[in-house]
Amino acid sequence: MPIARGYAATDASLPLTPYTFERREPNDDDVVIAIKYCGICHSDIHQARNEWGGSKYPMVPGHEIAGIVTAVGAKVTKFRVGDRVGVGCFVDSCTTCAARDLDNEQYMPGLVQTYNDVEADGKTPTQGGYSDSIVVKEGYVLSIPENLPLDAAAPLLCAGITLYSPLRHWKAGPGKKVAILGMGGLGHMGVQLAHAMGAHVTVLSQTLSKQEDGLRLGADAYYATSDAETFAKLAGTFDLIICTVSAPIDWNAYLGLLKLEGAMVLVGVPEHPVPVHAFSLIPGRRSLSGSMIGSIRETQEMLDFCGQHGIASEIETISASQINEAYERVLKSDVRYRFVIDMATL
Ligand code: NAP
Ligand code: ZN
Repeated sequence: MPIARGYAATDASLPLTPYTFERREPNDDDVVIAIKYCGICHSDIHQARNEWGGSKYPMVPGHEIAGIVTAVGAKVTKFRVGDRVGVGCFVDSCTTCAARDLDNEQYMPGLVQTYNDVEADGKTPTQGGYSDSIVVKEGYVLSIPENLPLDAAAPLLCAGITLYSPLRHWKAGPGKKVAILGMGGLGHMGVQLAHAMGAHVTVLSQTLSKQEDGLRLGADAYYATSDAETFAKLAGTFDLIICTVSAPIDWNAYLGLLKLEGAMVLVGVPEHPVPVHAFSLIPGRRSLSGSMIGSIRETQEMLDFCGQHGIASEIETISASQINEAYERVLKSDVRYRFVIDMATL
């Protein structure tokens, strides 16, 4: 079995520590990847700390993986040694069920997450990208465009696709007013992607401290949600609001910012339920919805779109020993705008 080195959470309340573990023996349809960079997604923190329940330890988090192919199985046709590749939030899905839908595979029951899950064999734990290597079926490996640096491309594998998919589904584009709620890892990707799709983009952030960055990344307007005036000024404005916030907020107040038939889409995952009043939805035939990452096909489309438009994440590169400190800074919204671990520092 190939040996990997990484960082793992061993309990919800303990810091991550160095961890050595076995990767599975590569099969004919597998790609072996030397991981160069891995982004730190807020979902890593939720799961390392068991905020969603059911966490499995030891857990090597990380699903924003960018690296180089070091070996391919005999049946692999799409990748060669030396290719620049990425791995996102899942490494397997239904391959046999009749309802299999390649454009919606992230919603199928057989999904196998990159970490905190078990492989299709039903027993081997999956372990993620805070490590120096990974073995992945070729159907779940993505190509990273040549013009995007590997470190800044890593966060596209989760933050990028999580915003790209709902922006496409709800048809962000010319003539549409889109608000991105929360200017963090997901949010700063949403600003760039919605702008490149031609939509009018507004950032709704707690304060104006990141306004300059928001406008530079393509926002047309930027408002502080700590200012009550914002809600009066923007009432009935947006076709689409994408909420990336994982803290408890008053969704009713934000639903009031939607136009007739506007949609608010949740991608951030608060720990506790938030009450929604029926009258926040009924008078404007508004909808409240959710969206989860994207299919492999759509993720490749997103990467190619980012390559064409020169879009990548704004990153702060850290060494592996700084992961715990980085978690604390993410929780304080003190990151511009994604931490990426340089695996050479392991
Ligand atoms: P992040 O970098 O921490 O960004 C979240 C942003 O929320 C912060 O930058 C901050 O923006 C805002 N925020 C924080 N605390 C707030 C508060 N008390 N009130 C209002 N706004 C607050 O996190 P992320 O990595 O982007 O992830 C965001 C959420 O999406 C997490 O829950 C994560 O698990 C989830 N997620 C979901 C999917 C999916 O498929 N649906 C995929 C990936 C991640 P401002 O400073 O601008 O206010
Ligand atoms: Zn993520």
